[in-house]
Amino acid sequence: MTTRTNLLDLTPSEAERVLREFAEAHGAGAYRGSQTARHLWTAPVATFEAMTELPAAFRALLAEHFTMPRLELTAQQTSTDGTRKFLFRMHDGQSIETVSIPDDDRVTFCISSQAGCPLACAFCATGAMGFARNLTPSEIAGQVRELALLDPPLRATNIVFMGMGEPLMNWAAVDRVLTILNSPQGFGIGARHITISTVGWLPGIQALAARPEQFRLAISVHAPSDALRATLMPVNIKFPLDDVIAAAADFDRRVTFEYVMLGGVNDQPEHAKMLASLAKRCRAFVNLIPLHPGGSMGFTPTGPSEIGKFARTIRAQGVEVAIRKSRGTDISAACGQLRVERLARGRPATADEDREVEIA
Ligand code: SAH
Repeated sequence: MTTRTNLLDLTPSEAERVLREFAEAHGAGAYRGSQTARHLWTAPVATFEAMTELPAAFRALLAEHFTMPRLELTAQQTSTDGTRKFLFRMHDGQSIETVSIPDDDRVTFCISSQAGCPLACAFCATGAMGFARNLTPSEIAGQVRELALLDPPLRATNIVFMGMGEPLMNWAAVDRVLTILNSPQGFGIGARHITISTVGWLPGIQALAARPEQFRLAISVHAPSDALRATLMPVNIKFPLDDVIAAAADFDRRVTFEYVMLGGVNDQPEHAKMLASLAKRCRAFVNLIPLHPGGSMGFTPTGPSEIGKFARTIRAQGVEVAIRKSRGTDISAACGQLRVERLARGRPATADEDREVEIA
């Protein structure tokens, strides 16, 4: 038998075309192909067998020619604030994390794009584990599909590529996943509700800018000078701040700066002023992020009142700024932290990790 086609690696329109042609070729009527395609993303089911409106013989035929691979859910945790974190194992034993964050009428999924990460940002748990491999489209979009298959299902209204990995270093797959997430024949999530977070990987920013949809771009700035940024983010040597800011200015939609507050490192008044002037150069909105303590070796979080002061200094320069609410700190729901915790074999959480960081 020839190798089976993984339907979840195709865009919804490709999958529908392939399935309609397949159905016709097997004398089942093209509409059977469209019925099958609906069960990939819009009304997902776990197996071909479960597509019960299709004739049993056709379901068996589908299973002979196609796959819809699952991700194996190996751990999950729920925070006191409702944030849920999932650890999925893939066919080769690699693990990735997905986080679901409810907030009023929104549910944001934080998804992973790589197993590990090659960029080694100094404060990041994923960076510390090194890089294993890029995820395939079905492994990235599959995270959203798996949560939709839970009982009861978890449905995303918003997606952020802020899990493990650098999405723009895996553009070929992420490009496809954006289509799956956004397309009405996919998950139908509005482009403005989908955010790609990047260290400033320039070729990827250009590729994203070339897409016609209004996907959002967030840039992990974390330091307002090349000298400081290079010590925190080695990628700054390849793509210096000036070039990243220029790419952000060229991006035809409003970008967000992410800035993780590292006590005594990047949280002084002069940093706030420099950051504000960078933001002005590309009309960016600044998001200040309290450091998630778990797994961030050697750094201490800036206190809530200092973060407030830092925000006011930025606002005084005429730049919009917000302080991100820390979510799921009791379950280490930051980049790479669940996987790190599992690797540490049940190391008990410290008192610090148990407390929610509260922002005034
Ligand atoms: N590689 C991409 C996306 C993944 S990380 C990027 O760097 O943007 C998503 C965000 O979480 C980034 O802004 C990253 O810097 C931040 N982050 C990593 N470790 C963190 C920690 N310990 N506390 C708070 N934010 C963290």
